[in-house]
Amino acid sequence: MPELPEVQTTVNGLQKRVLGRTFVRVWSDWQKTVTFPRKFAAFKKQLKGKKILRVWRRGKNVIFELSDGYSLLIHMKMTGHLLVEPWNTQDPMNGYLHIMFFLDDGRKIALSDLRKFAKVELRPTKELLQIFEGLGPEPLEKIFTFEKFEKLFVRKKGKVKEIIMRPSFIAGIGNIYASEALWWAKIHPAKDVSRLNARELKLLYGAIKKVLQLGINFGGDSFSDYRDVDGNKGEFEGSKKVYQREGEKCFRCKSVIKRLVIAQRSSFYCPRCQRL
Ligand SMILES: [Zn+2]
Repeated sequence: MPELPEVQTTVNGLQKRVLGRTFVRVWSDWQKTVTFPRKFAAFKKQLKGKKILRVWRRGKNVIFELSDGYSLLIHMKMTGHLLVEPWNTQDPMNGYLHIMFFLDDGRKIALSDLRKFAKVELRPTKELLQIFEGLGPEPLEKIFTFEKFEKLFVRKKGKVKEIIMRPSFIAGIGNIYASEALWWAKIHPAKDVSRLNARELKLLYGAIKKVLQLGINFGGDSFSDYRDVDGNKGEFEGSKKVYQREGEKCFRCKSVIKRLVIAQRSSFYCPRCQRL
């Protein structure tokens, strides 16, 4: 699933290509993708003529702020990604087009989604901002200080990997970047957060910011279905330390990387650097 760095990479691409454009038409062969308004005909009618004023991200959501006080939200879920013409048509992952937005300059924005779990909503911006209040803080924002991070753990219990992946705890962190951050911080993924000391929290805070920023710098991951708006893979691959490296050697201590299932998700860690 695209996480904060992948979604931010998509947003960065959209900002360069579609700001100021107007939606003229929308097509879909999987209308269930649109979850609000419920009726596709109403969605179609409301979107028509709206201009893209801003594109931004909150958690794993892409938001097009539109004219008339509306916003279009897209959550790419498991396998979705947004494309802007002209995109790489050679990559089969860009061929599962289930919704297409036609722009006033003749180009299209399309959502390619193999498993069809992606979600599209058109709502008044105010309403959307209220919904976002249920999300945790944005880990890369300057106002997200260590003091704020530390407070999140007060009286919390549970396995650290599971906790930091909760969207209501911190926004945008998924399986890949949680595994990576814990390796950098030398914390075992199953360690209970109530047992993390101040030093470990400080390391984790830094590691989360570091891996997410690295992910953005490299244009997202390269080993999932994710593609950027041009339809190309990211280049985070070269920077990953543990994710999907079971049986390979730790880059720090040469121990063999192990896999552990936490909350039905695979976690990858070094048993020597990351002790329970
Ligand atoms: Zn190690």
